[in-house]
Amino acid sequence: MSLCVCLSQLEGCVFGEMDSAAELLKYYEVYETIGSGGFAKVKLGRHILTGEKVAIKIMEKKELGEDLPRVKVEIEAMKSLSHQHVCRLYHVIETNTKIYMILEYCPGGELFDYIIAKDRLSEEETRVFFRQIVSALAYVHSQGYAHRDLKPENLLIDEDHNLKLIDFGLCAKPKGGLGYELMTCCGSPAYAAPELIQGKAYIGSEADVWSMGVLLFALLCGYLPFDDDNCMVLYRKITRGSYNNPHWLSPGSILLLNQMMQVDPKHRVTIRQLLDHPWTMSGYGTPVEWHSNWGYIDEDCITEMSVSLKISRQSTLQLVNEWKYDQTTATYLLLLSKKQRGNLSGSGLNFLSKTLLFNDDDDDAEDRCYDDDLPWVPTCPSAEKRRDHSKHAPTPEREPIAHHHRHQERRDRSRERTNENKENVAVANKDADIFALPAPRSPVANRKATRPNKRVLTTPTRNNTNKVGGGSTCKDPSRKRPRERMEGKEEEEMEILAFSPERRSRSLDLAGASRGDSSQKRRGGKVFGSLERGLDKVITLLTPSKRRGLRDRPRRIKAQYNVTLTSQTNPDQVLNQILSILPEKHVDFAQKGYTLKCRTQGDFGKVNMAFELEVCLLHRPEVVCVRRQRLKGDSWVYKHLVEDILSTSSI
Ligand code: ADP
Repeated sequence: MSLCVCLSQLEGCVFGEMDSAAELLKYYEVYETIGSGGFAKVKLGRHILTGEKVAIKIMEKKELGEDLPRVKVEIEAMKSLSHQHVCRLYHVIETNTKIYMILEYCPGGELFDYIIAKDRLSEEETRVFFRQIVSALAYVHSQGYAHRDLKPENLLIDEDHNLKLIDFGLCAKPKGGLGYELMTCCGSPAYAAPELIQGKAYIGSEADVWSMGVLLFALLCGYLPFDDDNCMVLYRKITRGSYNNPHWLSPGSILLLNQMMQVDPKHRVTIRQLLDHPWTMSGYGTPVEWHSNWGYIDEDCITEMSVSLKISRQSTLQLVNEWKYDQTTATYLLLLSKKQRGNLSGSGLNFLSKTLLFNDDDDDAEDRCYDDDLPWVPTCPSAEKRRDHSKHAPTPEREPIAHHHRHQERRDRSRERTNENKENVAVANKDADIFALPAPRSPVANRKATRPNKRVLTTPTRNNTNKVGGGSTCKDPSRKRPRERMEGKEEEEMEILAFSPERRSRSLDLAGASRGDSSQKRRGGKVFGSLERGLDKVITLLTPSKRRGLRDRPRRIKAQYNVTLTSQTNPDQVLNQILSILPEKHVDFAQKGYTLKCRTQGDFGKVNMAFELEVCLLHRPEVVCVRRQRLKGDSWVYKHLVEDILSTSSI
């Protein structure tokens, strides 16, 4: 222990980092970054015992600073919410330096990107999503919470194309119930209710219904009802409640939008009325089912855990019922999710060791990190081992400067976004009667605060331009950068390290061999097979770009929403056509096989847009297609730029 203290004093946060990562790596393998927000970086992970994929939300305590209570609020809310359309929290790991939230993994990305990719959704498709949103919100409200930050960025799509609500950091649970008034003005300007931006006391559920109206409009139209680069103009539009209905909206949609975006909250439709509203029910004939599907403890999962752990069902049940959001909770919930997908066949657990379930020290943790971002080092007492691995540990020099900047930028943004969540934490009551949303900024402040990668739904008319960069002033400061990738070399290195077979096999060997127990090894042997297979699956999923880099032929893919079909059959010709157009459009690119990593730069060489174009072959019909993926930058600007490139390439 004294060694620990001494080293930690000597090596400061590096030692803390080691501690942090080791704790996480006891239970999870960590893969690439899949998103980032105002507070957190989110990575894909894999729960070792069950083999299930998870999302790992990583927050640095040091960087959270006064926003730490917001994270606590989110954790407490997510612990008490259990619903088919709310992202499930499995496990919380808190170390000296970090907080890890292990969440249900939603591979379909944000609803925001889905809308952008499709321009807008049909009324039928919108209704499918809207019923799920109403279901989630009715449940959240029934538990006494208001979400207060509803927007398409906070709804993720799972593997079955169902929506899951995330980001409860701004939610409120008034002590006297949801009927009690709230004061804190928070959330994203374009989605905020009039009473909120006016700084009036408001009812959380009523404000949520307004935001849902804005969201519904965005789904049906592909842009926002209230939008302006100037904050004051935007606020005026919202408080007047004036927006235009485009010609394609049906009378039923116009009526519903009008009922949801009523300036006077007392005239607004309630969530209760939305459940069986004629528009919501159209084509279904049944009201929205909002009760949680997850109520009782599942017998099969308890049996699975108790047999594998060799402890009585009674004890297993007791452990699970403690709901500590530790390894036991995670294992139970992930088994349950496996079962719900029909994959629980009596061998749900990759039984490496009981210790994984009971929190004992786990020497193998260090070998389960597939991500260069996380330190690859052992836990505290083993100074010897620490030296061995120190070359892998991130040192302050090793961490790219850009990384620090990104963190700082995120923190600044998050501060801009919210005043404290007063309903949940005690803070000074200084902003009760003013706009708590970002104040109108001076031109200088505007310039400073404007990020080129603005990411909001805006009216198409004003964004129908390929001009890249361009400042706007009243965009949502909380906007996220999903699937933001590390840039350039940093990303390349991570990918290669993350998926090197050498590292994989070492991890797997150590997982069993280090125990020296023959029965364990026997079990391990079986597990290795399935793990190896499982991992291969994950690797296939995660390494498209690496694999593409090694290919001399284009990938064969299925049609997806982000794929543009061409009329051509020769992929090289398509590639060459695109290559000849990019310089004309002032797009820098790096080629890797049939993938073009593209980016545009704004003033002072700052990258303001990054995206990938990949020439692929479509299964059916047998034609060449171009897969496009936005990595960074404003969605509308990206959309028009890529459309321009592809149409000019005359493919
Ligand atoms: P923050 O609290 O910092 O705003 P979020 O929780 O909103 O962070 O997450 C940031 C981004 O990470 C999301 O917008 C999304 O793109 C991605 N993300 C978050 N949770 C998940 C998840 N469970 N599955 C997949 N991606 C996720």
